[in-house]
Amino acid sequence: MTIMKSEPRSTENETLPVSLADIERAADRIRGRVTRTPLVPSAFLSGKARQPVHLKLETRQPIGAFKLRGATNAILALDPAARERGLVTASTGNHGRAVAYAAQALGIPATVCMSSLVPANKVEAIRALGAEIRIVGVSQDDAQDEVERLVKSRGLTPIPPFDHADVVAGQGTIGLEIVEDLPDVATVLIPLSGGGLAGGIAVAVKALKPQARIIGISMERGAAMYASVAAGRPVAVREEETLADSLGGGIGLSNSVTFPLCRDLLDDIVLLTEDEIAAGIRHASHEEGEIVEGAGAVGIAAILAGKVELIGPTAVILSGSNIDARVHRHIIEGGAA
Ligand SMILES: *Cc1c(COP(=O)(O)O)cnc(C)c1O
Repeated sequence: MTIMKSEPRSTENETLPVSLADIERAADRIRGRVTRTPLVPSAFLSGKARQPVHLKLETRQPIGAFKLRGATNAILALDPAARERGLVTASTGNHGRAVAYAAQALGIPATVCMSSLVPANKVEAIRALGAEIRIVGVSQDDAQDEVERLVKSRGLTPIPPFDHADVVAGQGTIGLEIVEDLPDVATVLIPLSGGGLAGGIAVAVKALKPQARIIGISMERGAAMYASVAAGRPVAVREEETLADSLGGGIGLSNSVTFPLCRDLLDDIVLLTEDEIAAGIRHASHEEGEIVEGAGAVGIAAILAGKVELIGPTAVILSGSNIDARVHRHIIEGGAA
């Protein structure tokens, strides 16, 4: 299942919500506060694809995922009064960790709202990063309602996970680093959920390398951006359990930043089965020596499944490593997805 576009997409003559200049400014802001990650060649995947394939190791960020880039940039872009009042989010995944980590590093208070159903290990991981925890209600929606209450009552600043120009610009710094390290990059494979990662990288890479192809990769089970691009407007999809849990969730029906970026700049979106994602996790561990979560494995998985045609030097984003240790062991021992 793919959306094929005949013409290469470019950033020329279009007014997009994020520009190359925004991303260059973000790179200056976050320098020294996030890791400049390595881009390493994969002998196995290069042989299989008959093209040089390189892996961008966002797994090496301090919180184990790229989201530190966007959160750090968005927080540094706030005015001093807003910073002092503090930040709030409802994410308990990689975005929540990123906000908590960046806030602690900058000495800014952060509150993470979560429902009573969030597992204790996730609560403790965020508490350990210094965030104040507020447990409210029994669903993610209840936690999000609490965020909105705290924004109104205490003037806290919400840091959204993807649909925000400063967050997207922060994620886009990955694109600058790829072009610096692999100047003849021709294809970039990017895990796709809300589209902050893919949108930001696409702006940077297409501005510097207009011929490069940018391919988003999601799971078949609940691919909200794929369904939205296909429909021509943001749509909701049913959420389903998936190994690529960091790719779950909607894009927001009033999405204003990442939907237009993904619609206009992605050359294709590829969808994967759960077994294909499991094979990607397994390959990353056995052949590349990398622990990746399901979302972080989809680029490798798409190559192994033969679902992407690679033309020229290719960069594959390994977006994160935060997978439950037992699930990881089960998968690498060959267990079913
Ligand atoms: C958030 C996340 C993604 C998807 O990023 P979007 O900006 O929502 O598309 C991919 N991989 C990991 C590990 C993530 O945490």
